[in-house]
Amino acid sequence: MEKYSGKSVYKGVALGRVMVLAKTDDSVKRTRVADPEAEFARFEAACDTAKEQLQKLYEKAVAEVGEASAAIFEVHQMMLEDEDYIESVQGIITGEGVNAEYAVAVTSDNFSEIFASMDDDYMKARAADVKDISNRLVRILSGTDTGTGMTDEPVIIVADDLTPSETVQMDKDKILAFVTIHGSTNSHTAILARMMNIPAIIGAPFELESIENNCMAIVDGIKGEVIFDPDEKAVQEAKTKIAKEEEKHKLLLELKGKETKTKSGKEIKLYANIGNVSDLAYVLENDAGGIGLMRSEFLYLGREDFPTEEEQFQAYKKVLQTMAGKKVIIRTLDIGADKKADYFNLGEEDNPALGYRAIRICLTQTEIFKTQLRALLRASNYGNLSIMYPMIISVEEVKKIYEIVNEVKQELDEKKIPYKDVEQGIMIETPASVMISDELAKYVDFFSVGTNDLTQYTLAIDRQNEKLDAFYNPHHEAILRMLRIAADNAHKEGKWIGICGELGADPELTETFAEMGIDELSVSPSMVLPLRKIIRDIP
Ligand code: PEP
Ligand code: MG
Repeated sequence: MEKYSGKSVYKGVALGRVMVLAKTDDSVKRTRVADPEAEFARFEAACDTAKEQLQKLYEKAVAEVGEASAAIFEVHQMMLEDEDYIESVQGIITGEGVNAEYAVAVTSDNFSEIFASMDDDYMKARAADVKDISNRLVRILSGTDTGTGMTDEPVIIVADDLTPSETVQMDKDKILAFVTIHGSTNSHTAILARMMNIPAIIGAPFELESIENNCMAIVDGIKGEVIFDPDEKAVQEAKTKIAKEEEKHKLLLELKGKETKTKSGKEIKLYANIGNVSDLAYVLENDAGGIGLMRSEFLYLGREDFPTEEEQFQAYKKVLQTMAGKKVIIRTLDIGADKKADYFNLGEEDNPALGYRAIRICLTQTEIFKTQLRALLRASNYGNLSIMYPMIISVEEVKKIYEIVNEVKQELDEKKIPYKDVEQGIMIETPASVMISDELAKYVDFFSVGTNDLTQYTLAIDRQNEKLDAFYNPHHEAILRMLRIAADNAHKEGKWIGICGELGADPELTETFAEMGIDELSVSPSMVLPLRKIIRDIP
């Protein structure tokens, strides 16, 4: 039995088997093989495994984002049957007497180069697909396949660290908990764990190599502790805690359908944060009054190319339809800093948190922005949509955004494509936006305070830097004063203000927020009912 303490991100308890996610070494080595025929058979077996994985991904994607968006997994399955591709791999294995991983990597480079040089846009896009399926094959062949989402039994994921794009690709139903050696409590990976309702411990000091795949483990988010190979006594204790947690959850479920009003009758709207369409299940389960923040950038992560307008439209439409007239606030692309996708080609930056991210990308690469706006406006017909813009620092930015939105509306009008008039608001997550919130409030319909970034920029603390977790104090008086300033300025202009950063879910501050006049709190779905209870107890 081995016990390690770390920082708890979500206070639940889990008991189950471990799946170690080893960091994959992308460089493929060329080695000689004694039996090329057996090596080719190994390649064929890997193709079968890849097809099974892709079929599962296809079915999952059909259920979550619809047939059109899922079609890519069918294309990938077909590519695995492409004769030219298979013959090339076979030729290299048998002709050079080398390993299948190497043959696949070379074939991948050759084919993707050919596709990329074609004039036809469709064929060009296939270059990324060839790379994608080849990487999958190499991972299977080399045994470094993380199998994210491929196991049947839910597991405890143990990793060195996880990026948001790795996390977002995981099959959430198959994860009991996360344990990582590195990571900061304010990172998006931690936020995702909270959103998924799963216990998570980060910063636990063990050697990844010393943890055996498939061993039993307990993740105790209440104590901030992980136990590998627990003894019988620890297992019994964990089972008792899990039962208690379930009991507590059942009691909270009694608050479903009840109003979120203080005893004196003041309503605070309680909405949920989501990253993806699949998170809607948690929203419904926890009876959120709406969606206060959909981090749309998660649609862009964990993939090889931009999501098309149609793919985005389908995702937004599904969220709006499912929420059936309740408010849905979708934030436009907030990519950059820790949320990275290679195909954006953002390059390395010395200070990514202070860098080229979010609205700065949208205002300079307007085609990316317009595609998203078109998808959003088209989807507006299916529910009660509000659009929110991240990382705002000036009134000029808001004016520029409106110009672009109007251009998109005009294009839609010309094509007679209908859309609704939607509320447009901004994130208050930079000190600049707080200081000019009196001016900004004149131009927008609402504010939503992103306390995660507001804390980072106000306290000059990189939220990704795990060494600074002890200094990152979102209860800092400076943050509370800023919230008050922004709330007063919003209300002076008759606008509403919410909080969608993690601080919004802090039960110690709920009463303070009510007293400040905060109109809405948007929190991870699992926090909706606990906060409803607190709000209903406020005098
Ligand atoms: C925030 O900064 O508080 C916020 C809600 O946005 P994100 O965490 O995605 O940066
Ligand atoms: Mg932010």
